[in-house]
Amino acid sequence: MPLPVDVVPESYELDEDHRRLMISWSDGHTSAHDYERLRRACPCAWCAGEGGQKGSVDQTTTFSQQQTTLYELQVVGRYGLTPVWGDGHHTGIFTYEKLRGSCQCDACQAARARTAGGR
Ligand SMILES: [Zn+2]
Ligand SMILES: [Zn+2]
Repeated sequence: MPLPVDVVPESYELDEDHRRLMISWSDGHTSAHDYERLRRACPCAWCAGEGGQKGSVDQTTTFSQQQTTLYELQVVGRYGLTPVWGDGHHTGIFTYEKLRGSCQCDACQAARARTAGGR
């Protein structure tokens, strides 16, 4: 289901204890994102590759603690956020839609499981 255009992140919180990012959205939802999973999903050309070139990050990549520590989020235009990581990496732009689509809260995971499993 596409994200309505008026649903945008309003604030975020870095949960250092659980190493996850919490984003509060304008529709009242709070999404949860595991640091390491977010780092692995980095869509930049260096990590994910581009033009048929393989990126340097895949499911088997081992990250250092620093590489998976989220330092802050930068807003990109009106459509996305760039995480700034502990190692200085900050070239991956996560669109709002991608972020909401990868929310790891119980409700979203259950909803995705229902969709994936057919009706
Ligand atoms: Zn990257
Ligand atoms: Zn959610």
